[in-house]
Amino acid sequence: MKFGFDVDDTLINLREYAFHYYQEQLEQEVAIDVFHKLDRVEIHEAFGMTDEEGKAMWKKSVDYIYYTDCPAYPGAIEVLQQLNAEGHEIYYITARSAKHGEDTKAWLKKQGFPVQDERFYCGMKDEEKVKIIEELELDYYFDDKPEVLETLARDGLNVFVRDQSYNRHMNLPRFSDWAELHQLIKKEIE
Ligand SMILES: [Mg+2]
Repeated sequence: MKFGFDVDDTLINLREYAFHYYQEQLEQEVAIDVFHKLDRVEIHEAFGMTDEEGKAMWKKSVDYIYYTDCPAYPGAIEVLQQLNAEGHEIYYITARSAKHGEDTKAWLKKQGFPVQDERFYCGMKDEEKVKIIEELELDYYFDDKPEVLETLARDGLNVFVRDQSYNRHMNLPRFSDWAELHQLIKKEIE
């Protein structure tokens, strides 16, 4: 089987990691509840920033956020390792910009994710991402972003939503626990 995964906020807890980093950098304490109620992917509103300020803050922080010690979601690495060991094909499709491709790949490998260079796709807009996913003829795809998932689900692909505050309006198979999801996948592919 072919399994495709988005990276940020599907396999790794990037936004929450960024949220804590912003607090430190801005010396501004914001309750975690505020984070859990955000209805968009961007987090700057929690710190009272405009979109423009948020963009600048992200730009300044992105290298640290991407390449330091952002944690994977519990179980995510193990599930992918196991699928890989069972002979399934693991694809990564991330909208991180192209210049972050090589470093992101290396970082994922260092964390223990099973990455094959030719099965790693990076640097595309949402529409291109959908196109690549369709061309790959994946059996299953996992993502957190409503825009991407909606299009793919419409096209009949088996998609799973990594539960996040900004995607709860979506009526698709949803998960927040990788170990639990693994049980579900196992049942599906048996
Ligand atoms: Mg994502």
